[in-house]
Amino acid sequence: MRADPPENQAEPSGVPIEPETLRWAMRRAKVSEAQLAKAVAGGKIERVRAWLEGSARPTHAQTHRIAAKLDVPFPVLLGPPPAPFKLPVSDFRRPETQSQPSPELEAVLLDALRKRDWYRAYRQKRNPYVGKFANKRSFTEPPAGTLGFLVWHERDVSQEAAYWAEQTLELARLRKKVRSWTSFRAVLAEAIEDRLHILVLLNSMVGNNIHRPLDPEEFAGFALADPIAPLIFVNTRGSVARSIFTLAHELGHILVREDALDSDPSDDVAEGHERFCNRFAAELLMPEKEFRSLWRQHQQSDIKTRCTDLARTFFVSSEAVLIRAHTLDLISDEDFERLHMAIRRKSEKKSRESINNGGNFWANVAIRNSKTFFKAVIEATRAGELTYTSAARLLNVNVGTLAQRIYQDRGRVAAPE
Ligand SMILES: [Zn+2]
Repeated sequence: MRADPPENQAEPSGVPIEPETLRWAMRRAKVSEAQLAKAVAGGKIERVRAWLEGSARPTHAQTHRIAAKLDVPFPVLLGPPPAPFKLPVSDFRRPETQSQPSPELEAVLLDALRKRDWYRAYRQKRNPYVGKFANKRSFTEPPAGTLGFLVWHERDVSQEAAYWAEQTLELARLRKKVRSWTSFRAVLAEAIEDRLHILVLLNSMVGNNIHRPLDPEEFAGFALADPIAPLIFVNTRGSVARSIFTLAHELGHILVREDALDSDPSDDVAEGHERFCNRFAAELLMPEKEFRSLWRQHQQSDIKTRCTDLARTFFVSSEAVLIRAHTLDLISDEDFERLHMAIRRKSEKKSRESINNGGNFWANVAIRNSKTFFKAVIEATRAGELTYTSAARLLNVNVGTLAQRIYQDRGRVAAPE
């Protein structure tokens, strides 16, 4: 790398970046003056301040490092701050998190839109009837009259919709098959992919980049309700139980054909579709009949223990069980108020592990991209419909690694277990 040219104190030399834009980019990337100084100016905070005041300019090399650190293209720093990023989906997050989206959220949203567009074209090419007629095994055919606008204009049909989804996904069987929250999340995602033809992306970072983690406080997940290539993205950083509930909640959004971006959706206070999705998720994961009967069976234990026990059976959080019990009038308002904060704090503490994606690289790539999507991209590449470069970009992997994988894999099944 070239050495930085000496700085001229009298008249600023260097790259004429726009101080206002630098300030905007730092705010957006949540990088402080000290952090930027450490990354690009040898720790000299006064130099960063001078850039922000416009009394000095960074060198060419420094500007490149600033752009990389703040995740903006170099030329952007030369002009006025860009217009705010407009979310391509309705924002249902809690008001306090609805600030300008972070670069990470922006990146995963744009990545998901790109995937959706490609997969839509891919599906249509293979089956031109998809989305045109009711496909017997597609998400477009839940019980007649239960979906779309009927949901809140006419009456609440979350129960019927959940019953339909629970039967279609065979959740009772899946629950018995697995022993941990993480395994349940995996089989639930797989069932939604295979039986409802919805892409499910489970990821805790941007693409496959461990240096760009997603913030669970910023968003829990989102849904893109395309009729041909519906897609659910779940942020798996943080609690596993929470991510399972998010997955069910986003499925609700797909069923009412609505794009959405959500923060932790477990509170039963929201209105309209949010309310529908929360009720749908609760009913799907903890069907009323089973819930009531188990609650009775555990009658001898105190409420807290019952919540923990039922959480283990239904693979939800203790808090979700408490809310469900309260909604079904199985506990009093006083008991609910008394226990709610305590249980919430406890489950938050307990559930910080979950990011463990360990194991096989390609298995992780498939889970992060949706297994269905992964398989489709590999198949299309083998068939010569996609270049290796485009395929690698769609899967966020290195092109050489992908080529090697496809080469080694000839004749074998594409998707890993
Ligand atoms: Zn929502």
